[in-house]
Amino acid sequence: MTPDDGVRCGTCAAFVPSRRSARKDATSAAAGRGPAAATPAPACWRAYVRLLARGYRDADYASAQRLTVDAYVCQHPHGTPMASAEQVTVHLMALCQVLERELSPVAATRWMVAHRRSGAPLEALAAPQLSGTLTVEHPLSAADAEAHHAAVRAWAWSVWDAWKAHHATIRALLDR
Ligand SMILES: [Zn+2]
Repeated sequence: MTPDDGVRCGTCAAFVPSRRSARKDATSAAAGRGPAAATPAPACWRAYVRLLARGYRDADYASAQRLTVDAYVCQHPHGTPMASAEQVTVHLMALCQVLERELSPVAATRWMVAHRRSGAPLEALAAPQLSGTLTVEHPLSAADAEAHHAAVRAWAWSVWDAWKAHHATIRALLDR
């Protein structure tokens, strides 16, 4: 890949393939219509969608979906279509459940659904500096399912570690 083939995400600093859209992304951002610095670059978002697609196409990848979603949302806490600041807290709680408490991805998803239905109050946590963490690039380059799972897990740990200042709060929310 050459510098002309990619674009750097303003949030996670991933250098992701842009295909023909790099110029469009740069142009729209410059014109004030594109992503602000705190939102994922469109090419980063597309890389994330490609990661998720692996899990929909091939069952061997499916159980990585839970950590993939949680890692991406917590790494891009502003501007992802599916998560408000309060919902990012729930994804952080899911990361804690799977990584620290070794809950299975399926059990963590069941927990998230139950938690949302419960109407439990959510709090927004101030996002830390997230550049310097592993990014979508890490699992994107995995050659097979085993490498994909290992890379997603390493990426998720990297993002979880970046939120270290809030770990005690998140554990306390889980234990409430
Ligand atoms: Zn990004």
